[in-house]
Amino acid sequence: MSENKPFKLTYSTMFTPPQELHDQFDAAIVKAKEDFGKEYPMFINGEERFSEAKHEAFSPVNRDWHLGTFQKGTLKDVDDAIAAARAALLAWRLTNWEERVYMLRKFADLVTERIFEISVATCLEVGKNRMESLGEVAEAADLVRFACDQLEKNHGFVNNLSSDPLVGFSSNNQNVLKPYGVWAVISPFNFPAALTFGPAGAALIAGNTVVAKPATDTSLTVTLMTECMRDAGIPAGVFNLVTGSGSVVGKALTDPAKVDGITFTGSKAVGMGIFRQFANGVYVKPTILELGGKNPTIVSRNADLEDAALGIARSAFGLSGQKCSACSRAYVERPVYDQLLERLVALTEKLSVGDPSEQNSYMGTVINQKAYDDYQAFVKELASAGKIAVGGKVLTDGDLSKGYYVTPTVAVDVPLGHRLWKEEMFLPIVLIAPVDSLEEGMRLANDTEYGLTAGFFGTDDECEWFFDHTEAGVVYANRPLGSTTGAWPGYQPFGGWKGSGSSGKNGGGLYYVQLYMHEQNRTFVHRL
Ligand code: NAP
Ligand code: MG
Repeated sequence: MSENKPFKLTYSTMFTPPQELHDQFDAAIVKAKEDFGKEYPMFINGEERFSEAKHEAFSPVNRDWHLGTFQKGTLKDVDDAIAAARAALLAWRLTNWEERVYMLRKFADLVTERIFEISVATCLEVGKNRMESLGEVAEAADLVRFACDQLEKNHGFVNNLSSDPLVGFSSNNQNVLKPYGVWAVISPFNFPAALTFGPAGAALIAGNTVVAKPATDTSLTVTLMTECMRDAGIPAGVFNLVTGSGSVVGKALTDPAKVDGITFTGSKAVGMGIFRQFANGVYVKPTILELGGKNPTIVSRNADLEDAALGIARSAFGLSGQKCSACSRAYVERPVYDQLLERLVALTEKLSVGDPSEQNSYMGTVINQKAYDDYQAFVKELASAGKIAVGGKVLTDGDLSKGYYVTPTVAVDVPLGHRLWKEEMFLPIVLIAPVDSLEEGMRLANDTEYGLTAGFFGTDDECEWFFDHTEAGVVYANRPLGSTTGAWPGYQPFGGWKGSGSSGKNGGGLYYVQLYMHEQNRTFVHRL
């Protein structure tokens, strides 16, 4: 049945792309290399903005590749961007919602048109493989389209309610959702397109204006996406981009006296700091936090072990383990533990690590020197607490020495009380342990501060039991395409419980765009 469907790229279909996709990606790499070393501006009030101080960005794939020169924004740049967003707010929020939807759809279509150019940038600055990079840019466009669809399905969130039962008066009641105002969006390095423009798109469609700040390591993707905002005709000041450090630009953008709401996606430590800072305002403002994960997979003695091993390997090592949804621990029922481990080790050994822009590389690099150093420190710690079953090495042969290449790693025999069963490493390292029962696996799986994603392999009844007991926002059963990763807007709305997220509602889902709006009930009385 699916044979006749046209190919649609998602994180589940990306394993079997048509060759044409590869050819176009190859052509875009050649072009991108011609642009190495260019300077890129910020974007404030519809204009390019340059600053005194610059950040030189080099690719984690090869440190000789100078991706470009970016602006180190200042406090004044942040203030100007917020002022521009505030000045543009009234006209934007009074624009018909249908017109906002029209413009944001145009933005999404431009992103789709430029998908190869943008995803090559993502590939070279994040170090993620080409299919993951293409997938992310497609996801970013779909996140915006999904929010547009939601506004349409809900008729702009304008609802007429029943009239009061008054005599001598007509009393008409209407319920509307309205934007908050100026929204700050701060995004992480691992999904620069999707996690800047998913939130920003929802905020804009809802009628807010936006100031965005990307991670320092990944300003290129966000700059190219910002060009799509400009070219889609989004009015000046409605979407602004300030590049620069978290400690200067990020901190200034999360001043509760200056903005009306924030969406931060990143680490729990930084996110909790922002939450506390934002709470110092004179009243409470919406704070959407999408934070880390420590995502478990539980494998039953009745599971299809081939599917389980494949699902774990893909989720643990895709994007070099640098997904908030990456599988970083697996609990396996004891009777099948040895067999599962053997399959997982065999699959891990076969994964190709190399230049992520090349067609056959499954795993590219880690993001920067700090991640590279962290990887080596974690491996050392795990090797002394337990044993490294496979991986644990950095790769430095030939050109690999110019990038941050590490091997996918499975650690075994690590005592269950060890800190690394609970702390996010954000690297291609998975811990695996036998458990005596599914109940024990579930207890361990839930025993963390996080609750982002979780996976399970077993019988249908066991899967239902898993859904009922797991504490996470996105959960998968029997999914070889990724045991804990690979959510897609509209199919798998994405968000976390507990320390993984603040809103309790998932991005790309039915209740997301509403987070960017507050409710107003309007009663209009006429004397009869
Ligand atoms: P990060 O270090 O927390 O940084 C995220 C963003 O915050 C960056 O733009 C960073 O700027 C900025 N920032 C840093 N300090 C700040 C401050 N004091 N005030 C305001 N902004 C500040 O996270 P990351 O390393 O980029 O990303 C990895 C983390 O993100 C992991 O924990 C991962 O689980 C999480 N994540 C969560 C989700 C989700 O949906 N739940 C999705 C993806 C990633 P600089 O780059 O300039 O420091
Ligand atoms: Mg960081």
